[in-house]
Amino acid sequence: MCQSMSADALSSEAPGTVDEEKCISCMRCIQVCPENAKHLDEMMLNAVAEKMEPLFRERKENEIFW
Ligand code: SF4
Repeated sequence: MCQSMSADALSSEAPGTVDEEKCISCMRCIQVCPENAKHLDEMMLNAVAEKMEPLFRERKENEIFW
């Protein structure tokens, strides 16, 4: 089991399951797993990328929220 997971949402007893209460959807497990055990559905990824792309076309100035 990967030791780099700060949210501790993956369990060595049940590696196929994710604790939905702890998971913060950071996608780090997908990036770091040497066995490629976790992956994104390519169709879903493309749909999200298509929807988000217009939001990132222009550079936005930093904002401070109080
Ligand atoms: S998405 Fe992030 S928080 Fe969720 S299981 Fe993967 S590494 Fe842990």
